[in-house]
Amino acid sequence: MQSTEQKVNLLNLDRQGLESFIEGLGAKAFNGRNVLKWIHKHGVTDFDAMTDLSKKLREQLKQVAEVRVPEVVFDQPALDGTHKWVLELDCNNRIESVYIPEPNRATLCISSQVGCALDCSFCSTAQQGFNRNLTTAEIIGQLWVAEHELGKRLTNVVFMGMGEPLANFDPVVTATRIMQDDLAYMLSKYRVTISTSGIVPALRQLTELSEVSLAVSLHAPTNELRDQLVPINQKYPLEQLIPACREYLRGDKRRKVTWEYVMLDGINDSDKQAKQLIRLLEGTPSKINLIPFNPFPGTRYQCSSPERIDAFRQRLVKSGIVTTTRKTRGDDIDAACGQLVGRVKDRSRRELKHAGGVVR
Ligand code: SAH
Repeated sequence: MQSTEQKVNLLNLDRQGLESFIEGLGAKAFNGRNVLKWIHKHGVTDFDAMTDLSKKLREQLKQVAEVRVPEVVFDQPALDGTHKWVLELDCNNRIESVYIPEPNRATLCISSQVGCALDCSFCSTAQQGFNRNLTTAEIIGQLWVAEHELGKRLTNVVFMGMGEPLANFDPVVTATRIMQDDLAYMLSKYRVTISTSGIVPALRQLTELSEVSLAVSLHAPTNELRDQLVPINQKYPLEQLIPACREYLRGDKRRKVTWEYVMLDGINDSDKQAKQLIRLLEGTPSKINLIPFNPFPGTRYQCSSPERIDAFRQRLVKSGIVTTTRKTRGDDIDAACGQLVGRVKDRSRRELKHAGGVVR
């Protein structure tokens, strides 16, 4: 028998990938669709339980393939029903995913990289630096694990955990195809959202390739300020980013770009900046999501006051832009936006237990 290292992890393959893999074993392509369904719809990882495959094919699969899901090492439920899972990918790398329940939604916020290379000045993931890209298996594995842990289906997925999804393009796009496949997670294009800091060439590529909702971390109405907050702006400034986002919508009247805007006290929250923002987004079908800044140790920023956030929001609403303020969820377990870090990596299991969750 071959060792685990040499086996193909089938979580890396979308429908087409599984069909070709199975054909490569000399069986018919439809078996690939069955395998997709077993893994993602029924949560089955054991080939012996895939009863509509021939005995011969099951034996072959056992020899050359496996379904290896990330290991949950820590599960922390918050008071509001949010869950944060710490997943171990290998002995050096851990990531976090966050489940956010709402009355008629079950949303999973997933990571696309271990750490992040973009260095946004208000984000705690940035402080940890960049370690590596996730594979498709590790991205889709987060959905597999969440549904397994919860015993229910997810309705929405947002790439708003650790990492910049467009800096890990191919594995992310393959994972979104599995999310949207009717034989897997069956999520529509309105229910899978990629959040990006604005890597323009990758965004243009995504326009050609993929059908997902787009959220962009704007955070500032001018290049001068955005250069400081989101340094990738120095490479792809607003005059490139905004048209690329508009083109992403391809004239589909039902779609809008969601602009994320973190509220930083005295930095980006003045009335003048609200006006600049309105002018900047003129002509682009937009929704704005104001995110109260979530502080973390060592940060130089503070969150704008609730009154300031509301005044800022009112200005945008008056100009006709749909604007919401994000409710902070799971902040008692450091599961809120920008608080996901690999911090736990260095902590012992005993310490984790003291953090109030369940250590596996
Ligand atoms: N790299 C992607 C995903 C990042 S996380 C992106 O840049 O969009 C998702 C959102 O959380 C982004 O809008 C990010 O800017 C925001 N965020 C990061 N740190 C934050 C913090 N400390 N408080 C509030 N929001 C934060």
